Amino acid sequence: MAFGKDGICSICKRMPVSRWCDYVINYDTSTLFLRDYKEFVSANSGNNYSTCDLPMCEKCASNVGKDRDLCPHHISLYRVVQLPDVYQRKRQSEEKGRIYRFDATK
Ligand SMILES: [Zn+2]
Ligand SMILES: [Zn+2]
Repeated sequence: MAFGKDGICSICKRMPVSRWCDYVINYDTSTLFLRDYKEFVSANSGNNYSTCDLPMCEKCASNVGKDRDLCPHHISLYRVVQLPDVYQRKRQSEEKGRIYRFDATK
């Protein structure tokens, strides 16, 4: 039986489904090459990505924000890698690296 609105939680297999995992697992190919953080944010605000969508009950889902729930597998990933922060940190370090290189040539 396919998981649907009246399905059973795929984690505990006892409670009715009320949430779906919102973890983004795949982006549309047209948004794979993002030039800057602004593009990254706009790409994430659209519907051009697919999410895990694992059906879960309220108990098994981990809420990580407004209308955002993650399955047990993805909440563990989420805690290690929070995507926007990682991108932001990467950008900042690249920025610093550029400044450093400019200074070094003087
Ligand atoms: Zn459950
Ligand atoms: Zn998931």
